[in-house]
Amino acid sequence: MKKIYDNIIIGCGITGLTIAKLLSIKNIDYLIIDKNSSPGGRISTDNTTDYSLDHGFQILLEDYPNLKMFPEIIDSSFKKFKSGFITKKNGNLYTVLNPLKNIKAFFVQNTFPGFTLKDKVLLIKLILLSKNYENEDVPVKSFLKNFGFSHVFIDDFFVSFFKGVFLDKNLNVPLKYFLFIFSLFSKSNVSIPTNGINQIIQKIIVQLDSSKCNLNKEVVNIRANSIKTKDGESFYFKKLFCTDSKVEKLIDKEFNQNFFKDITYNSTQCFYFLADTKDINDSFIYLSPESDNISNISLQKVENEKFLISVSCLSMEISKDTIEKEILSYFNNMKSMKFLKTFKIQNALPSNPKFFNFQEKSFYRYTNDIYFAGDFLSYPCLNGSIQSGINLVESLES
Ligand SMILES: Cc1cc2nc3c(=O)[nH]c(=O)nc-3n(C[C@H](O)[C@H](O)[C@H](O)COP(=O)(O)OP(=O)(O)OC[C@H]3O[C@@H](n4cnc5c(N)ncnc54)[C@H](O)[C@@H]3O)c2cc1C
Repeated sequence: MKKIYDNIIIGCGITGLTIAKLLSIKNIDYLIIDKNSSPGGRISTDNTTDYSLDHGFQILLEDYPNLKMFPEIIDSSFKKFKSGFITKKNGNLYTVLNPLKNIKAFFVQNTFPGFTLKDKVLLIKLILLSKNYENEDVPVKSFLKNFGFSHVFIDDFFVSFFKGVFLDKNLNVPLKYFLFIFSLFSKSNVSIPTNGINQIIQKIIVQLDSSKCNLNKEVVNIRANSIKTKDGESFYFKKLFCTDSKVEKLIDKEFNQNFFKDITYNSTQCFYFLADTKDINDSFIYLSPESDNISNISLQKVENEKFLISVSCLSMEISKDTIEKEILSYFNNMKSMKFLKTFKIQNALPSNPKFFNFQEKSFYRYTNDIYFAGDFLSYPCLNGSIQSGINLVESLES
């Protein structure tokens, strides 16, 4: 007799794992199916070299409200970044501290060109009052200009910093989402698990029943109450949860709505190098506002005077030689670097705000029995993915 699963989840990323965890808490049966050979989806780390290399530079904001769903993550070992950034302007490196966390930020030696006292005061005002502005319907850059920030500060801080967060130099995200992330960056610890971002998935997955996670199974067709995988197996379900918008194209045409046809994603390319160098501060994220290629740089000391360097770029075409030259001219003490690996991530972050349902419903009921959830329906980060999963499972109760 064929087995009918109460719930099948396509995708073992953080959205799928959120749904699984909530169902397991309620003792409701489920099966996760994922085409990848390891769990985590976009939260992925490559361990094929001597180092843990994340598929794209990803950080955890420790105050993401939804992390409380996964207290198991917190006992990972983390590299914590200091609040602020280091940036290069006119050939000089400047360390810019977060004025909310470090009083030294107001002293003159901390000032880099364009970061005026007025900008600092406005920054504090925006941090403290961000909630007051979240319902304004204006593009992020216009909002910052109207708020009174100098154009140099907008370009050299806001654009330079947040283009690496949103993977978009136009900061084309809903203002409410921008203010949410901005406020978190100003107050929260920013960190990465020392063994790579996928460590958080490893912490989650060991808490779940491994027999309910079917990896290396690519779904190739979705019917009203069954799915078919590439190896010819069929699975029957009462409810199906799809956590990737691209899965829609697998749905039978009789009930395919083409709902996600306009969905778009921002891309990124991430380069890893190993460099012998000293006198370098690896506790800040580095920005490069004068570079058309680099969105951010982060360093991690791996041995005495040996650093792992991750360089993120928005362009998918840029070569490792170009990036290597830029990094060597950025850090005066660095004489040579060894290239390790590059990752091109085509569909890194969903970018069409039309689909974002920030802090509201954040999932989509496609048919009576098929649902979609994920960051593409809430907002493009870990917290948004978890939110979408939570909202979906809560809706099943009502
Ligand atoms: C480079 C990069 C940088 C990022 N930086 C940050 C950051 O700093 N902070 C932050 O909070 N967030 C960041 N994010 C966003 C965060 O990683 C995502 O929001 C989150 O991982 C999305 O999780 P998800 O489960 O919704 O989707 P996914 O992780 O994409 O999971 C979908 C899963 O579905 C599976 N799947 C798809 N099709 C099929 C099929 N046909 N059959 C079977 N399985 C299928 C996929 O294999 C995948 O595992 C970043 C993302 C990237 C890529």
